[in-house]
Amino acid sequence: MIKVGVNGYGVIGKRVAYAITKQDDMELVGIAKTKPDFNAMTAIEKNHDVYCSIPENIGLFERRGMEIRGTINDLIEKCDVIVDATPGKIGAKNKPLYEKAGIKAIFEGGEKADTVQCSFNALCNYEEAIGKDYVRVVSCNTTGLARTIRPMLDIADIGRIRAVLVRRAADPVQSKKGPINAIVPVTKVPSHHGPDLKTVLPNIDIVSMAVAVPTTIMHLHTIMVELKDNISKDEIIEAWGKTPRVKLISSEDGFISTAEIMEYARALGRYMGDLYEIPVWEDATNIKDNELYYIQAVHQESDVVPENIDAIRAITGIEKNARKSIEKTNKSLGIR
Ligand code: NAD
Repeated sequence: MIKVGVNGYGVIGKRVAYAITKQDDMELVGIAKTKPDFNAMTAIEKNHDVYCSIPENIGLFERRGMEIRGTINDLIEKCDVIVDATPGKIGAKNKPLYEKAGIKAIFEGGEKADTVQCSFNALCNYEEAIGKDYVRVVSCNTTGLARTIRPMLDIADIGRIRAVLVRRAADPVQSKKGPINAIVPVTKVPSHHGPDLKTVLPNIDIVSMAVAVPTTIMHLHTIMVELKDNISKDEIIEAWGKTPRVKLISSEDGFISTAEIMEYARALGRYMGDLYEIPVWEDATNIKDNELYYIQAVHQESDVVPENIDAIRAITGIEKNARKSIEKTNKSLGIR
């Protein structure tokens, strides 16, 4: 059993912690929190051992009547791997803690690629991460792009990819972020997403643009791919159909927007009503003049969760076969 700790129990950390408890080859030793907020309360009510990531804050937990098992250093001592799910750039600051203790760590998409030995997506480069000490699971948007672009590389000779990302303004829990009534363009081209995808698929040609819109439930991508050979829409749909963690949907089934997708996901009853898969509209997929056009959505709070579980298996080497790890993780989380 691989012993895993989660540092940072927010949107991503709590979901990864849950997913770890569903595995039979790893155990959740505990989670670390900076302060005694509602997330710490959740962890305690879920019977997770809670550690304090800022040692001088232990008194704050005691004052709120929350029982603490020790500091982040005590948690690190008991673990083989730490999943660092702290806010972007904090992971890089925490890295020396893990290096000093000689344990492996997984970071999230808010960290820079050069913080780690390799970036990670299970479908794209599982093998590259085997035995590494520090890897970074690429962001929710990059994971979404990777899931649908990677299978195309096996069946078609593709040219330039152009992706326009319509980003959710905030996560549902973020009451202080916006916009609430505006569309905000990201003026930098390419947006960071295209270059980020190249950290796990280095040989592709991609340029990305992004805007942020007032929604909390999902990102949406419109993607255009130059096709150098004659490939049919059916062949592409078939390839996605066989790809783990990609879900074909259609407006004919009532999926007319991201709202119905998340309603469907909530009804599935997974932890937090999550949707780990990337839904792709089959009926919005078209080929015109040797260019593929398609639209997909990304449940930003959860698509990276199964990737974190696979990353733990890869860096510890407990499973060297990507497909086997993906299947095992999928089964444990109810992903068909
Ligand atoms: P979050 O703010 O919801 O949670 C962060 C957690 O870390 C909180 O529990 C917070 O109290 C704790 N924390 C804050 N400062 C800390 C410190 N100095 N030391 C230890 N813990 C600290 O953030 P999140 O959305 O879960 O993001 C975590 C990482 O995952 C980021 O790298 C982010 O870019 C990435 N990510 C986020 C999303 C998303 O949509 N939320 C999707 C994919 C990847």
